[in-house]
Amino acid sequence: MIDETAPPLDSARRQGVPLRVMSGSRPTGRLHLGHLLGVLENWVRLSRESEAFFEVADLHAFTTGFDDPQAIRDARDDMVLDWLAAGIDPERSVVFLQSAVPEISELHTLLSMIVPVAWLQRVPTYKDQIEELGPEVATYGFLGYPLLQLCDIAVFGGDTVPVGRDQLSHLEFGREVVRRFNHLYGPTLVEPQALLSAFPAVPGTDGRKMSKSYHNAIDIADDEETTTRKIRSYLTDPQKVRRNDPGRPEICPVFALHHYANPDRVPEIREACAAGALGCVDCKMELAGSLNAYLRPLRARRASFDRAQIDAILERGSARARVVAGETMRAVRRAMRLIDS
Ligand code: SF4
Repeated sequence: MIDETAPPLDSARRQGVPLRVMSGSRPTGRLHLGHLLGVLENWVRLSRESEAFFEVADLHAFTTGFDDPQAIRDARDDMVLDWLAAGIDPERSVVFLQSAVPEISELHTLLSMIVPVAWLQRVPTYKDQIEELGPEVATYGFLGYPLLQLCDIAVFGGDTVPVGRDQLSHLEFGREVVRRFNHLYGPTLVEPQALLSAFPAVPGTDGRKMSKSYHNAIDIADDEETTTRKIRSYLTDPQKVRRNDPGRPEICPVFALHHYANPDRVPEIREACAAGALGCVDCKMELAGSLNAYLRPLRARRASFDRAQIDAILERGSARARVVAGETMRAVRRAMRLIDS
């Protein structure tokens, strides 16, 4: 469902200079259709047009999951497998493990010396998340989450960060920290720019946003039978009880998914549903067929990798990442007079 005709990043591209895109994700295990359509397809497109770094943010995972390190370890392979399934090419892009690039942690320590605590406390997501997750997550590391995020970007000189609106405050905080550093020690770090990305809300089986925690997701790695079964269980327009009842496609999550799986058929499906000429079972079976056809090559690609290859990909990617991060850290140490040259 990647739109091959989508315009290049004209609005963000600096004249004649390739973008260096940085993004990543905390290891959360298997990814679902919402991740694929909302994030991964965007990454694949960006990685074809730019130099891209994709991080498995295992240190970030410890900010809330510090009591279960094995879960963090177990989750990372499945996540990387789904990245590869979606089309991230580890030869072209740098796919790496955050904890295997210690330069990120070093930059975090150094920048923590110049960041006022109040700047971190006023990042809106901090209070929101404590309210949601409880006071026990309010660790020193959790407060510093946006600073560690900045270090992920700044250590690679990342100038472009695909973000949704909800992450803009983190990036703005990071830009402020870079400006402070450069003001104190001389121009050294690159101020990252947001590449505002529209992340579509993909509905799950219960009509709410697709999410692992709602148990309403279709996983990339599901087999075809499971996918079909999940699609059959989708809620539809509750007023359309019999096959010939006219439906309201605009409120139906199945219709929303047709936009991704069957874009050419959307006008016909809309008309047939509204006219009572299409039954929900047929509508769902058509969706299941299209979705499985779309996911088939991704699932085959996923199955072609084994866990040992994931380790090798992360090892190679982390070594590549360290070369770039090492250059930045030499410049940072020089700027802070920690080394002379
Ligand atoms: S026919 Fe399709 S779009 Fe219409 S309500 Fe049923 S599942 Fe939804």
